[in-house]
This record gives sequence, structure tokens and C-alpha cells, in this order.
Amino acid sequence: LQIGFFALVGLAIYFGPLAALRRRLSIEGQVRTALKRGEFFLTYLPTIEVNTGHWLGVEALMRWRHSRHGLLQPAAFIPWIERSPLIHDTTSWVLRQAASDLARMNELHHELYVGINLPPNQLSDERVVDAALDAFGNDQLCLCRVMFELTERETTDYASPEVQRVVARLRERGAQFALDDFGIGFSNLASLALLEIDFIKVDKSFIQELERRGTDPNIVDSIVHVAREFGVGIIAEGIETERQLDRIRRIGIRMAQGFLFFRPMEVEATLDQLRLQTQ
Ligand code: C2E
Ligand code: MG
Ligand code: MG
Ligand code: MG
Repeated sequence: LQIGFFALVGLAIYFGPLAALRRRLSIEGQVRTALKRGEFFLTYLPTIEVNTGHWLGVEALMRWRHSRHGLLQPAAFIPWIERSPLIHDTTSWVLRQAASDLARMNELHHELYVGINLPPNQLSDERVVDAALDAFGNDQLCLCRVMFELTERETTDYASPEVQRVVARLRERGAQFALDDFGIGFSNLASLALLEIDFIKVDKSFIQELERRGTDPNIVDSIVHVAREFGVGIIAEGIETERQLDRIRRIGIRMAQGFLFFRPMEVEATLDQLRLQTQ
């Protein structure tokens, strides 16, 4: 009977409500280890000026070389990290790594910005300001070289005083802000004004739609109108074909990212490409 009891307790811990806790702890443990052992790395996706082909900046995109699971893409781990307290350490790591990589890129006579993806819950955490200044707070590398990319969530409250304060402090030091994946999910027009957003990143689903339907009126046109009303710049995400490039050019979008130009590259490959540009 006693063995039965302990077995039951064991099973309850293993499969019961505690299982969720166990799983969480183990993901946190893995992230902590990954940070310590250097299993994370950044890849860079250029933002291109569509008329000249010049690079305007690069977006930092995280990857995880997991000791057991191999190479992981953000979709497989970012959502977990974003919900854990380790998001702060992770974002701090991204900021430091991006800063040192950007310094190397800009040594090659470029004045690129770096895009840092920031989960909305980080915006109410003042520690992110310290982390940002720690990485980008000197003369060579100021926050004016950083564009924070925000993706809205159901629960995002950009009107809260905490968020306003963090954004104001980052902006004071020259940081710019973009609304990522604009037009899908929970992105809304109110935040454009509330946060004095500098750029809208048009989600790739609309770019693909543009090619499929091919006729006016379309959502991208409407987004461009809204952006002009608000005095906000536009970046098209996910340009994969010449035809899509042609369409966005005609609509008047000047900045774009996508596999047509480049795929996300590790820092060494990014530096190689930049050397080709300067030749
Ligand atoms: P995002 O910020 O919207 O990044 C753009 C995603 O679209 C990237 O996927 C990029 O590789 C992909 N992409 C770019 N051009 C094309 C294209 O032409 N075609 C297609 N099919 N895809 C394209 P990735 O690297 O898998 O990142 C996914 C998301 O994970 C990002 O979406 C961002 O929300 C999140 N993420 C990535 N790195 C970080 C990070 O360091 N911190 C946080 N909090 N989130 C991150
Ligand atoms: Mg982004
Ligand atoms: Mg996006
Ligand atoms: Mg996206």
C-alpha cells in the first residue's frame, strides 16, 4: 500500500499540475545553460534601400545551437523565453552581442543601424534601459544606432506609465522604434501615436498577398497611406520575388528586407558581404 501511495504521488508530480512547473523549470535551466555556454548566436538580416541596393541596417535574429536538439529557430524557443523571467538576461545578451557585432560592421565604413526585437513585456521593465545603455551607451556606439522592433500582443498596454517611461528614456538617447508585423495580430493605430513610432514593418503576409491578388485596392496601399498620415517610415518584410519588389517600389516603399536580397547571415558572412559592398 505504501509503495502504491508513493508511486501515486510520483505520478501526480510527473504528470499532474506540477508537470507544467517542471517543464518550465527545465526550459529555464536550459536557457541559463545556453547563455553560460554560448549556445545562442545572432544572424543578421539586412534592410535594403530598394532604389540603390544600399544597406541601411541589419536586424539581429537569434538562433540556438542546442547541445541536444541541434540548430533551433526562434519560433521553437522565443515564445518560451518571452514568458520566463530569463527574457531579461536573454535580451541583455542580444544587446551586448549585437553591439559588438555592429561595431565590427561599422568599422568597414558603414553607418548601419541594428534592429533589436523587443517583446512587449520588456517595455515595462526599466532594467532594459540599463542593459541597452550598457551595450550602446558610449560615443562609438550610441543608442541612435538601434531600432527597437515591437510586436504587439493581446495584453500589451502601451498607454501604461511604465511603458511610456522606458520608451521615453530610450528615445532620449536616440533609439528609434518600429512596429513589427504591422497589420496582423494586435497591432493597432493607437500605438503609432502613443509611442511616436518611427517605422512600420509591413508583415510579409501582405507582401505575398500583393502578388497573389495583384490588383488595387490592397492593404499595403492603405498601410502606406496611414504611415504617411502619421509621418512614419515603412519597411516591407519578406520580399521574395522581383515582382513583389516591383510592386512595393511602385507603391512608394523605399526600405525592404527579404530572401530576394539576403537570408539571415552569421556575423562573419555579414562582414564578407559588407566588404563586397565597399569594394
Ligand atoms: P520578425 O522580427 O518579424 O523577423 C522576421 C522573420 O522573417 C525572421 O524569421 C526572418 O528570417 C524571416 N524572413 C525575412 N525575410 C523573409 C522572406 O523573404 N521570406 C520568409 N519566408 N521569411 C523571411 P526568424 O529569424 O525565424 O525570426 C522569427 C521571429 O522571432 C522574429 O520575427 C521575432 O519576432 C522573433 N525573434 C528573432 N530574434 C529575436 C530576439 O533576439 N529577441 C526576440 N524577443 N525575438 C526574436
Ligand atoms: Mg523584427
Ligand atoms: Mg516582422
Ligand atoms: Mg514576423
